[in-house]
Amino acid sequence: MCAVADSYDYDLFTIGAGSGGVRASRVAAAHGARVAVAEEYRVGGTCVIRGCVPKKMLVYGAHFAEDLEDAKQFGWNIEGKSFDWVRLRDHVLNDVTRLEGLYGQTLSNHNVTIYRERATITGAHEITLASGQVVTAKYILIATGARPHVPEFPGSEHVITSNEAFHLDALPRRVLIAGGGYIANEFAGIFNEFGCKVTIANRSDTILRSYDAALRDRLLQISMVKGISFLFHAEFEHIEKQADGSLLVKLTGQEPAEYDAVMVATGRVPNTQGLGLETIGVATGRNGEIVVDAFSKTNLDHVYAVGDVTDRVQLTPVAIREGQAFADSVFGPGEPYAVDRSCVPSAVFSHPPIAAVGLTESEARNQLGNIKVYQADFRPMKHVVAGRNERCLYKMIVDAANDRIVGIHMIGPEAPEIMQAAAIAVKAKLTKADFDATVAIHPTMAEELVLFK
Ligand code: NDP
Repeated sequence: MCAVADSYDYDLFTIGAGSGGVRASRVAAAHGARVAVAEEYRVGGTCVIRGCVPKKMLVYGAHFAEDLEDAKQFGWNIEGKSFDWVRLRDHVLNDVTRLEGLYGQTLSNHNVTIYRERATITGAHEITLASGQVVTAKYILIATGARPHVPEFPGSEHVITSNEAFHLDALPRRVLIAGGGYIANEFAGIFNEFGCKVTIANRSDTILRSYDAALRDRLLQISMVKGISFLFHAEFEHIEKQADGSLLVKLTGQEPAEYDAVMVATGRVPNTQGLGLETIGVATGRNGEIVVDAFSKTNLDHVYAVGDVTDRVQLTPVAIREGQAFADSVFGPGEPYAVDRSCVPSAVFSHPPIAAVGLTESEARNQLGNIKVYQADFRPMKHVVAGRNERCLYKMIVDAANDRIVGIHMIGPEAPEIMQAAAIAVKAKLTKADFDATVAIHPTMAEELVLFK
């Protein structure tokens, strides 16, 4: 069945209702396109359903462990405090359901048809739904995201990923987290604050590889002081489930050790299997990612892809921008435009969090040669009063040739909240002198950004 030019059922069929797919669908519809979206799991995608959003709620929940402890020095007596994982878990899951409803409503309000089932591409302009229904579309957008990568080894069926972490019946007493990236460090912080004994095992000796070395070292040091153990050059050999339900884990270079749960956070792989890409010849790369140009167009003129499935920058706000740019470019009145991926700020919601924008010190040295590095290493007032020996580290990297700030890196309470504003300045190519000319807000942690000497 091949539809002729203007007789397609839809102008756009989006596969995947995550951050990128929802934005693209609703904006295309607002531009007047007839749009349908298929989602096999839950509307909202990884970010809303089992990523950024519920994770941040757990981070908030976890941080109370320190706040309640610190409260003593501020005069508060908190007797008999205890933590109820199931209460927090269910509250978080209920909120996720609320948000899922809002995402669905947004689509419906824009007259986007939602198919709550799997969709497969079965012809150049043809999509077959799990129910057997066949629809046609002028354009196809693939926004199917990514899924956790789980290495293959004997006993790998016993591990969980971040997907399952939100649904645990009970907290594990001892948890091993494999990986040293975003998810490993964020969940290590969460579980540790909840009182679990956390061990991180990474294949190399570097955590959070893309971040500035000084911040990585600071997080490592603080995490160890908080009680998180780290094993490096440690990869899975095998896992055995024991009679009592615990897991006996053998890692390279380590004696076998027992854990109650093993969570794998070793990157995410694009969801491209079984989509029918080969049926119409959509080109994919080495990791199965869909290869696209700057406008998110695949090798076929009417097939586009946005978000994690393209394995460019695996961040929600970037996927949203890609979806917006695609919809504006293909269905809007203006000229096509590409997403500007320079100076993308990012954060790791570890305990304490890290935030960064621009070049790290070593990247700046390599790329620019002559740079100036400013650093503030300080204990925030709240920690001083609380008696918490945990220091913040802020770094500013400046191009010595023109005084322009090319990078800011922070670890400490609220670093991501502070960074969002600072990132505007870096993106706008402001100079160190511009920061110096700005009066501090005192007393804050953020004032350190305008007081670098
Ligand atoms: P990351 O890419 O952050 O880290 C992956 C880690 O796993 C690294 O330490 C890496 O080691 C290790 N690793 C990679 N491949 C293997 C392998 N085959 N076997 C063993 N270890 C391996 O991945 P995450 O899973 O933590 O997160 C996925 C993505 O999701 C992130 O890249 C990020 O884009 C996004 N995300 C963003 C968040 C945020 O914005 N706050 C939060 C959570 C996720 P090495 O570095 O030594 O190679």
